Amino acid sequence: MNVVSLPEDPPVILVVDDDPSMRAVIRRFMEKDGYRVVEAVNGEQGLEVYKRLQPHLVLLDALMPVMDGFACCTQLQLIASESIRDAEVFTHIKSLQDASRTPVLMITGLDDQESVDRAFAVGATDYLTKPIHWAVLRQRVRRLLQQSQLYQQLELATRELQRLANLDGLTGVANRRRFDEYLDAEWQRLARENLPLSLILCDIDFFKKYNDTYGHQAGDACLRRVADALSFCARRSVDLVARYGGEEFAVILPDTTVAGASQVAEEIRAVVNTLEIAHAQSAVSHHVTLSLGIACTQPNLNLDPTMLIASADAALYQAKAAGRNTYFPQTCAP
Ligand code: GH3
Ligand code: MG
Ligand code: MG
Repeated sequence: MNVVSLPEDPPVILVVDDDPSMRAVIRRFMEKDGYRVVEAVNGEQGLEVYKRLQPHLVLLDALMPVMDGFACCTQLQLIASESIRDAEVFTHIKSLQDASRTPVLMITGLDDQESVDRAFAVGATDYLTKPIHWAVLRQRVRRLLQQSQLYQQLELATRELQRLANLDGLTGVANRRRFDEYLDAEWQRLARENLPLSLILCDIDFFKKYNDTYGHQAGDACLRRVADALSFCARRSVDLVARYGGEEFAVILPDTTVAGASQVAEEIRAVVNTLEIAHAQSAVSHHVTLSLGIACTQPNLNLDPTMLIASADAALYQAKAAGRNTYFPQTCAP
C-alpha cells in the first residue's frame, strides 16, 4: 500500500485540557511538528470549538471540570453521526463511516482498566497515559491523521463507486439495476401511503433504421439526446428516468395519476419532436420520434411492480400499433 502523505495545509489539532501548562507544552510540541493547534479548557468548550473549526484530530484529557473527556467524547460521536446524516452519506459499510470520523486520542493520568475500557466504549480512537511519552505521542498523532485521511478517501471512493454502479454509462441516466431497485422501493412506500404510481416506457421509433442510416455512433448520440430530453421533462425530485434497455427508456412517476403521467408523456413526445433529430428513413416523420406506454396503479403490498411494467409494455405496444409518435395510457386495477 502507498504511504499516505499528510494534507498540504497543516492539520488542525484540538487540545482539550483544563491544565494550562499541559495545554502549553502540548501546543509547543505539536507546533514544532508543523501542526496548527487550537485549545479548549473543558469538554463543553471543546465541543464548541470542534463544531466551529472541524479539527483533524482531538487530543482529549479525561478529568476536567464542567464536562469531562468521557462525556465530551460521547457528544463528539453524536455530532459526527449527525453530520454524516446531513451529508446524506450513504454507504453499506458502517465501520467505514465510523472509522472516517475525526479521531480522538485520550491523554490522561488515569491508567486503570475501567477508564481505558470506558474511553474506547465512548468512542475514543486511541489512549495514552500521562506523563506523556513524547516520541510515542508523535507517532500516534501521525498515524491517526494518516489513517483518518485514508478512511476519508476510501469513503469518497466507495460513494463514487455506488453512484457509478447506478448509472448507465452511455446516457448518464439511471441504469436498469437502479430502476429495479427504485421501482421496488417506491412501490412499497406508495402502498403504505396509499398513493398512485405511474410508469412510462418510451421506445424510439424505427431506431434500427436510424443506426443503419447514420451509423452506430450517431445512434449513441441520439440516445444521449433523448435521455437528456426525458430528464428535462421528469423534473420532480422523486421522478426517475432510467435506460430500460437498448433504445428503451423508463420514467417512474411516484404519486402521479394516469392524467398526470399522460401530461408528462405528451411533453416528452413534444420535446423530442422539437429536437428535430433528422431521421430520413422513419415512416412517421423526418425526425426521431418516440412511442410511449403509460401504466398507472395503486401499489399494493400483496403484489409486486412486474404487473405495472407488463401493463406499460402492453400500452407501448398499443402506441406502436396506433402509428407511433404517440402515447397510450392504461390504468390497471390493483
Ligand atoms: P420500433 O419502431 O418498432 O421500435 O422499431 P425499432 O427499429 O426501433 O426497434 P428494434 O427493436 O427492431 O431495434 C432497436 C434498435 O436499437 C436495434 C439496436 O441496434 C439499437 N440499439 C440498441 N441499443 C443501442 C445502443 O446502445 N446504441 C445504438 N446506437 N443502438 C442501439
Ligand atoms: Mg425496442
Ligand atoms: Mg424502437
